Amino acid sequence: MRVAVLSDIHANLEALDAVLGRARAEGFDAVYVLGDIVGYGADPDAVIRRLREEPSATLIGGNHDLAAVGRFDTTWFNRAAAEAIRWTAGVLGEPHRRFLKGLEASGRADDTLLVHGSAVDPVAEYVVNEARAVASFEADEFDVCLFGHTHLPTAFVRAPSGRVEGGVLPDGEALSLEPGARYMLNPGSVGQPRDGDPRASFMVFDSGARTAVVHRVEYAIEQAQRKIRAAGLPEPLADRLAVGR
Ligand code: ZN
Repeated sequence: MRVAVLSDIHANLEALDAVLGRARAEGFDAVYVLGDIVGYGADPDAVIRRLREEPSATLIGGNHDLAAVGRFDTTWFNRAAAEAIRWTAGVLGEPHRRFLKGLEASGRADDTLLVHGSAVDPVAEYVVNEARAVASFEADEFDVCLFGHTHLPTAFVRAPSGRVEGGVLPDGEALSLEPGARYMLNPGSVGQPRDGDPRASFMVFDSGARTAVVHRVEYAIEQAQRKIRAAGLPEPLADRLAVGR
């Protein structure tokens, strides 16, 4: 099965459409969305609508999705993020509010564990180093865990010896999943990349061929920025899209 893995779309419709177009060109049987569908960007309703039109999509919620419907405390959000959550909560249509309220914080699909943060804390933990990855490998049983939240396309591998190593996933380079090893894979962020490359990021995970490939996709960044400014959202949320930080 070929899966288009999308995370951290953050209400960026231009980036989502570019990624879905590229995913269709690559070919997929299913879409997994690892949370943070909304927050930061100016198109929460349109993005949710687009994802709900995707019949093969399995979606879980991230901290921003839950915060937008009062299921997650924004005390530790930075000011711009908290402001964007208040704005999102104010504009979300009622069916979409109900939709976000109904999202689970983790899921399983085709034997793969889906979380936004980690296997330890599916909503809010950042898996940014080997120590955090080790904790997740110990916390749950999975061969492959797909996660988001850090906005960085990365892979952590636990070899049969127990040794855990992590690294970045470069654009277009296939990672081969070795038998007996376990994996935590992050597709990067569709709507707000933070690795210095402003292009949208997603992954094609092939469970049959046992490969994972990250793809970076150009999109209409200026259009997304214009909408953020027109909505009155904090200026830095528009600025950062141009630099991928
Ligand atoms: Zn996010």
